[in-house]
Amino acid sequence: MDLDARHAPWRRDYLLAMEAVIDSGCFSGGPFVERFENEFAAYCGTRHAVGVGSGTDALWLTMTAMGIGPGDEVITVPMTFVATVEAILLTGAKPVFVDIDPATYTMDPTAIEAVLTSRTKAILPVHLFGQPADMGPIMELARMHGLRVIEDAAQAHGAAWSGRKAGSLGDAGCFSFYPGKNLGAFGEAGAVTTDDDGLARDLRMLRDHGQSEKHRHEGFGWNSRMDGIQAAVLSAKLPHLDAWNHARRLHSLRYRAALSATREIILPSERPATAHAWHLHVIRVPRRAGLLEVFRQEEIGYGLHYPVPVHLQPAYRNLGYTAGDFPVAEQCADQFVSLPSGPELDADRIDHVISTLLRWAGPPAASRTKSLHEPSTRAGAPLGV
Ligand SMILES: *Cc1c(COP(=O)(O)O)cnc(C)c1O
Repeated sequence: MDLDARHAPWRRDYLLAMEAVIDSGCFSGGPFVERFENEFAAYCGTRHAVGVGSGTDALWLTMTAMGIGPGDEVITVPMTFVATVEAILLTGAKPVFVDIDPATYTMDPTAIEAVLTSRTKAILPVHLFGQPADMGPIMELARMHGLRVIEDAAQAHGAAWSGRKAGSLGDAGCFSFYPGKNLGAFGEAGAVTTDDDGLARDLRMLRDHGQSEKHRHEGFGWNSRMDGIQAAVLSAKLPHLDAWNHARRLHSLRYRAALSATREIILPSERPATAHAWHLHVIRVPRRAGLLEVFRQEEIGYGLHYPVPVHLQPAYRNLGYTAGDFPVAEQCADQFVSLPSGPELDADRIDHVISTLLRWAGPPAASRTKSLHEPSTRAGAPLGV
């Protein structure tokens, strides 16, 4: 991504937005935050959006507001950014992992039932890379067992499932506005979306030292207010989000058109009835080291999301998992490569990545079996939107 290029066309708007905050003096919470909350709730199709300090805080505060704590278990995936798991641990609850689906890289709903216990309180699917998790069966299971569902939508601003936006699919949606996300602030910020009036009220207290009104502390709280400047910048950016996501989609179509015949590359798929937000365009390559070397020579910026699944990180060894517990997540960790995908990139830059990939892969071997392509057969299906 190229944040300079991303911001340049609207630089004046952003400066004016920040100037308005400076002139008002409303730096922490206040009218700019309220305005953005209303706009973002309307965008996501929820009754509420509560602005907080970061996506990590959004997750932690949501679970805290739901009463999740020591002795409880929360089901999530090991193929995610570590913050998902940190937030569970910070409540005192125990993260319980299930593997991801090999075609969509989101939580495998068929794996959930086997890990349910009397202590399970919530399911925390991650809309990884911008693809909504398989929310139909997840919500069904949750309702059947009386569990809450918290969407980690930090990579999925504007993604949709069955015509509804990410953040409106579970009991709460947790967003990050870290600068590199599809909707990014000029610093740290996050939000929780929900239709639950009580949850929204509790979150507003939690983010502000448990206060229901000044000097009245109803319960435990913290300082996780959103900055006025971040809110003003986000309000200036939100009207562009759909166009930016569309540009990301065009990049993904360009990659797909050029690369789908290449045996060495497994392309990402888009589940039917979903609109992927294409936060990251992640391919799988079984021989990754060689490709990364070529990318470095060509000065192509790539990412690895995520090269070590959370259950194999040194910090989380005490959770009791070992290599081999989540074979899909572990294989993906070895094979994932994130390609340049920011909306600011032009077709020439995408084409440079494509020609580099094609040169690295060599000519397609028509005689070879298509077994490696199995997961991308679905990937090759027409895109949903
Ligand atoms: C970015 C991210 C977070 C954390 O958000 P911050 O705003 O950086 O705290 C959580 N989960 C996922 C999947 C993310 O990508």
